[in-house]
Amino acid sequence: MSIQSFIPPQRTLMGPGPSDVSPRVLSALARPTIGHLDPTFIGMMDEVKSLLQYAFQTKNTYTMAISAPGSAGMEACFVNLITPSDTVVVCLNGVFGARMVENVQRIGAKLVVVEGTWGRAVDPQALEDTLKQTPEASFVAFVHAETSTGALSDAKTLCEVARKYNCLTIVDAVTSLGGVELRVDDWGIDAVYSGSQKCLSCVPGLSPVSFSDQAASVIKNRKVPAQSWFLDQSLVMGYWSGEGKRSYHHTAPVNSLYALHESLLMLQNEGLENSWARHKAQHEKLASGLEALGISFVVPKSERLPQLNTVYIPEGVDDAKVRQFLLNEYNLEIGAGLGQFAGNAWRIGLMGHAARNENVLLCLAALKEALAQ
Ligand SMILES: *Cc1c(COP(=O)(O)O)cnc(C)c1O
Repeated sequence: MSIQSFIPPQRTLMGPGPSDVSPRVLSALARPTIGHLDPTFIGMMDEVKSLLQYAFQTKNTYTMAISAPGSAGMEACFVNLITPSDTVVVCLNGVFGARMVENVQRIGAKLVVVEGTWGRAVDPQALEDTLKQTPEASFVAFVHAETSTGALSDAKTLCEVARKYNCLTIVDAVTSLGGVELRVDDWGIDAVYSGSQKCLSCVPGLSPVSFSDQAASVIKNRKVPAQSWFLDQSLVMGYWSGEGKRSYHHTAPVNSLYALHESLLMLQNEGLENSWARHKAQHEKLASGLEALGISFVVPKSERLPQLNTVYIPEGVDDAKVRQFLLNEYNLEIGAGLGQFAGNAWRIGLMGHAARNENVLLCLAALKEALAQ
């Protein structure tokens, strides 16, 4: 059999990511590749930095995109900031919190877990109780938007609590950036990472990160280098710092960065607050349609993520058959349950370019038909 060009089907992506990529971003991706040290490319990288500062609502100079997916942003935050002598408090309420736990364990630091409930926000009081009993703690880590459960935690309050106990914060904003309110400077977040393929409507493979001055000085003053050479931010920053100082570290994913530039520009043109409001409005439309179909939400209303709707699979309905029907008949992808919700929930994403009337109506109509069969 001869191998031919791969022509992917045209899908509508309403799962936990990747989400629908805007045509504008796809066309940016196809522009000519230039050298990663080309002066015009360096100019574009500087624009990516300032567009990211806007998206994160931060003045942090240490703001850039790691050349790898969100998981690499997570690992970069942990391996650069934490050393084996540190005590780290991790709030655990889903799959991505569990990955934070694993990062701390692999570094060999002391780990203290705030056990939360799957499908619920992190409880700030539980964090405070733990910190009271752990005076040696120097970091608090939590997931803002838990994509495995659809729960949104109160990042502002959690950061306030962490600061009260002199801890730096590491925040997973992979699914929150662009989809719900996130204010890195106002909320005092020290290290934050995200991903290109969720609410930014960009292709997978890049991880925006930002470090506060305090976090940056922790990184600069490390006595032992971070165990990851590729993710060592003291090296990567030389590459992204600009002003003619750019030196080779690795070859930037040139075309992917065009795509990120375009998607962040679209976000800036729309306006952050407008993007948050659009996600909320589409979520409300979807939620009322789902409830009319007799489908109920896993997460209590006040703790729900608009961009990731986790709903129980109705009694007697075959999970895999429905998702297959949506894919085969409507080219529509929704997500399966993950971890504790595997097999009993669906995750319907309304991320970035997917948070539109067309998508909501398609999803409701297709689900209605699938359930009727
Ligand atoms: C998707 C996701 C990640 C991982 O991002 P990848 O790009 O898949 O590596 C991390 N945290 C959360 C909350 C996510 O939703």
